[in-house]
Amino acid sequence: MAGTFVVYSDKTAIAIELIGFCRGSGKRAVALAFDAAAAQEYAARGAERVLLIECGQNLPEAYAKAVAGVLEREGAEGFIVGSTVRGREMAARVAGYLEWPLVSDVSKLVCEEKELVTERPAYGGAVVQQERVKLPAVVTVPAGKFEPAATSGAGAEVVTLEAQPDERTVLLERASVEKQGADLGSAEKIVCAGMGFAKKEDLKLAFDLAAVIGAEVGCSRSVAEERNWLPTDVYIGISGATVKPRLYLSIGVSGQVQHVVGIRDSRVIAAIDLNENAPIFKAADYGIVGDLYEVVPALIEALKNC
Ligand SMILES: Cc1cc2nc3c(=O)[nH]c(=O)nc-3n(C[C@H](O)[C@H](O)[C@H](O)COP(=O)(O)OP(=O)(O)OC[C@H]3O[C@@H](n4cnc5c(N)ncnc54)[C@H](O)[C@@H]3O)c2cc1C
Repeated sequence: MAGTFVVYSDKTAIAIELIGFCRGSGKRAVALAFDAAAAQEYAARGAERVLLIECGQNLPEAYAKAVAGVLEREGAEGFIVGSTVRGREMAARVAGYLEWPLVSDVSKLVCEEKELVTERPAYGGAVVQQERVKLPAVVTVPAGKFEPAATSGAGAEVVTLEAQPDERTVLLERASVEKQGADLGSAEKIVCAGMGFAKKEDLKLAFDLAAVIGAEVGCSRSVAEERNWLPTDVYIGISGATVKPRLYLSIGVSGQVQHVVGIRDSRVIAAIDLNENAPIFKAADYGIVGDLYEVVPALIEALKNC
């Protein structure tokens, strides 16, 4: 299947996965980089051609018009972009300049002769929507969807491009984000608190259980956004954090689809809920039907003595 796809991500690891997708689809992969280290990495990891845009103080997305020009000159029929905040900015602007269709945040991407077949969750994760989009097109893809391209012996040439940034966007300052809660993305064990807790003070039970088993504490969206009991950084689900711990243990979480979408890659899911028909039990490997105010203190006691 001849043809060229240009790939871009501000996260090098995602770009290497996208190069893997192009190669697996029989496409020539042209990788776009904004720093020399990433460019060298792509050259060694299967890109047929690497274009390095030196952007100095400017943001990569300020080069969207220049990138659109690159796509035209390369005769590209696809722009495959990592779904990060920066990537989505770049993808939308480039699609606008070229008047190409854009499909964002796909969960599955397959390349056919003259079109891309994409899948993505819709209606809060309740259904999967399949779309066919004619090439040329722009697609954004989250991390972890494709095998990273293997190291290639040859190593592609890196071509440095002169490009004109859009001066309307200027980087004034960089400041690190102060995270308030735990880093759930890399947590090995998570205790998740839901609306089953009657009072904020009662969350101490979740924290005590977490301390005993060495877990981080997360929550459902309602606990963070409706009750403001925990920071929004730690709510789990389709609009919050996606987690994949070895153990996810929910307490008083009903398990609506928007929540379960964020936990389904957990190795073991355990749940405590009063309602035996709570949907969380359909997703769970282990469940305890009972009152959290009885079950959790008993669990803490039992596990303390293990
Ligand atoms: C577009 C959209 C996006 C959303 N995104 C997210 C998201 O990312 N994450 C998310 O979590 N939600 C999300 N939601 C909200 C989601 O639909 C649910 O409303 C939410 O997850 C419910 O939170 P919960 O399970 O804590 O509360 P509830 O649904 O109220 O469940 C509370 C549970 O506690 C149990 N319970 C009550 N008392 C006790 C007790 N004493 N002991 C034991 N169990 C008890 C009940 O039986 C019940 O199952 C989204 C909704 C929409 C529309």
